[in-house]
Amino acid sequence: MQTTVFQKKAALQDCIQAKKTNSETIGFVPTMGALHQGHIALVKKALYENTYVICSIFVNPTQFNNTDDFAKYPSTITDDIALLKESGCHAVFIPEVTEMYPDKTSSNHYNFGGIENEMEGAFRPGHFDGVATIVAKFFDLVKPDNAYFGEKDFQQLLIVKSLAAQFFPSIDVIGCEIVREKSGLALSSRNKRLSNQGKEYAAHISKALEYGQSLVKTERTPSAIVEKVTQQLSSISAIEVEYVSIVDSNFLKKADVLDIKCNLRIFTACWIEGVRLIDNYPLYPEAQS
Ligand code: AMP
Repeated sequence: MQTTVFQKKAALQDCIQAKKTNSETIGFVPTMGALHQGHIALVKKALYENTYVICSIFVNPTQFNNTDDFAKYPSTITDDIALLKESGCHAVFIPEVTEMYPDKTSSNHYNFGGIENEMEGAFRPGHFDGVATIVAKFFDLVKPDNAYFGEKDFQQLLIVKSLAAQFFPSIDVIGCEIVREKSGLALSSRNKRLSNQGKEYAAHISKALEYGQSLVKTERTPSAIVEKVTQQLSSISAIEVEYVSIVDSNFLKKADVLDIKCNLRIFTACWIEGVRLIDNYPLYPEAQS
């Protein structure tokens, strides 16, 4: 089976209209490309739950607060299309920037009740306005029944759920578990920018968060765990820690007490070899359904 490649909104819309007339259910997987098995897991879940699956590949300029990060974002379009074809994905939408931003390349401003200001929101000003702006454009265009987002970007998943609840109530936003390498390193397009040595250092990020999970047995407070995990990460000179936070999984508010009932998660953002990596784990995995 071929994966149909669309570059123009109009052609994609015609295809979607035909599928909808045929009562097909549309699954949508937005990505920025440089695809890996984490993305493909989303596509496979979408294929399982829908009759027609569309993936998008678009490096969205408005969600980058750092021009260097945007300029160096990896691009592997030919390999991406081959991977999508192998997965059975029906269509991929690869628009130019001017197709998505015909007037001006800027974001709208959104209110997500405060979750947009925590963690990634605090360290990447404007990032979630950019994410919400492009996801809203895609949701308007594709009008999917279901849209798939990874827990790798857990805060983004909450933002998109809130966006859908406010503006696209007919779209189900479905979260998918993080796919990791054997070393524990969360798969990420940005890993492609790391040297082999850098990837070894990066594996310490997941190890430190797992260490954080183990500390719930001995530590009394979230801040004590945050301190020890930060210390563990900072003990590796190649790792520069931006933040370690333990927050609740619904509102992303800083946790003051350790309580298995509070659905706490531990998050971090770290820099290695000039590449910014993020990861997160549930603090009490045994309490996850
Ligand atoms: P990106 O291309 O990095 O913007 O990611 C596109 C989608 O794939 C987002 O919903 C990500 O959360 C998700 N994703 C990226 N990496 C992983 C991973 N390792 N496991 C699961 N989902 C992922």
